[in-house]
Amino acid sequence: MKRKLSNQFLRNFLVIFLLTILATVFAFALLSFASGLISGSLTKNRYPASAIIKEDYRQIDASAVVQNGGGVQVVDREYRVVYSSGLDTIGKDKLTAEEFTTFLTESKSKPYHYDILYHPKGEFWLIVTFPTSIRLDFSLVYNKEAATGDFMRAGWAITFAVLSYILMLALFAFIYSRITAASITVPLQKLCDGTRLLREGDYSARVDLRLKNEFAELQNTFNDMAARIEHEISLRKKSEEDRRRLILDISHDLKNPMSSIQGYAELLMKKTGMTEQECNEHLEVILNNSKRANQLLTELFELSQMDSPEFSLKLVRTDICEYTRQICCELVPLLEREGFKYEFDILEESVLAMLDTDRFSRIIQNLANNAVRYNPKGTLVAVKLTVQNNQAVIDFSDDGIGIPAHLADNIFKPFVRVDDSRNSKTGGSGLGLSIAKKIAEAHGGDLTLCLNGKKGSTFRITIPTT
Ligand code: ADP
Repeated sequence: MKRKLSNQFLRNFLVIFLLTILATVFAFALLSFASGLISGSLTKNRYPASAIIKEDYRQIDASAVVQNGGGVQVVDREYRVVYSSGLDTIGKDKLTAEEFTTFLTESKSKPYHYDILYHPKGEFWLIVTFPTSIRLDFSLVYNKEAATGDFMRAGWAITFAVLSYILMLALFAFIYSRITAASITVPLQKLCDGTRLLREGDYSARVDLRLKNEFAELQNTFNDMAARIEHEISLRKKSEEDRRRLILDISHDLKNPMSSIQGYAELLMKKTGMTEQECNEHLEVILNNSKRANQLLTELFELSQMDSPEFSLKLVRTDICEYTRQICCELVPLLEREGFKYEFDILEESVLAMLDTDRFSRIIQNLANNAVRYNPKGTLVAVKLTVQNNQAVIDFSDDGIGIPAHLADNIFKPFVRVDDSRNSKTGGSGLGLSIAKKIAEAHGGDLTLCLNGKKGSTFRITIPTT
């Protein structure tokens, strides 16, 4: 790709190069044409020395020259300026032979035009001076009578100059074509390298072109795309990891009750001469374990149902304050039975929210069950409902053992528990908070663990009001 583009540029610049040579030839032709035009129209050429010279210099009429900004001087054989009218660039009345020669030889380089004519009979030089307006000194003079050697040398010099000029142009065209091609091929190459890295699975690949043109736009789009792919891949990896962990946790959690059921059932079948009390004890273990397995499967089913695209809530406009008050009242028997203290602070006014009442009550019931399950008797359970920024905020807190801060986010993931051994005793499935959070999110709100530095744990449910 690089070579093709470079060659394309080289071809383009070759065309430009040829056109430049053509343009140069044309420019020379134009210059000599302009030179001719200028010399025909300038004042100095309308009043040459030959037009006003007289044998007796005293009869010379310099008025037209002087009126047009020029000057006339007459220098005699002794180099005395015997006549002067108008512009005078000699500036002296008497010159030495040397000074007069210098004046004649240097007159070409001065910003004046001198027309100098010698009158052999009158024995004087007539000098007509005009200030130069624009001088174009370009002219190609060819004289057949010139010495052959001169002609050859001049020919070589001109050929050398023209060839050098053409070579210089060709070199510039080549260098410029390479630079221009590089300004495209280098960023393209970098973008290609980045794309190749992406294709090979390096999603951290980014391109840094340090440009401000369209390539920079392409670079930003490429980098955005790479960042998005990287993010998606990391999400996919994470969800794959979560799925693997979930299956492992499910099998681990189901294995214990199922093995226990199997063991006790076999014992009942094989062991003879058991007392009725022994039989009942074994049956109770089987019942408890099957209940535990059943609860785990029910909650798992509920969780996966909420993840499915068909899941929807049956939302009804409800007074969330009134409804929360009602749920709290239903919690009182449980709290009293378990020896817990309680405190409810629910806003008196009516606050409307779209609620699936059955599911919403599950959130608070799960939190209450956890508070009772994981905290000692005498723990204070408090429910407070306020409205902040068009959201009903329900703080469900206890002053019990609390949840470590580093688990604040992960505690809502399935099967995450603070202490696994504690759970086998309490019978928790590790899914309660995940289900509660999903219900809150399905309502457009959230369930979070507040790290407020207070003793115990505070869960915050937010539900948008209408
Ligand atoms: P589980 O069914 O095990 O209760 P949850 O998802 O409801 O699962 O809770 C996850 C873990 O969070 C629990 O195992 C427990 O360790 C901890 N936890 C939840 N609520 C409380 C609380 N109020 N006080 C102390 N620990 C709690």
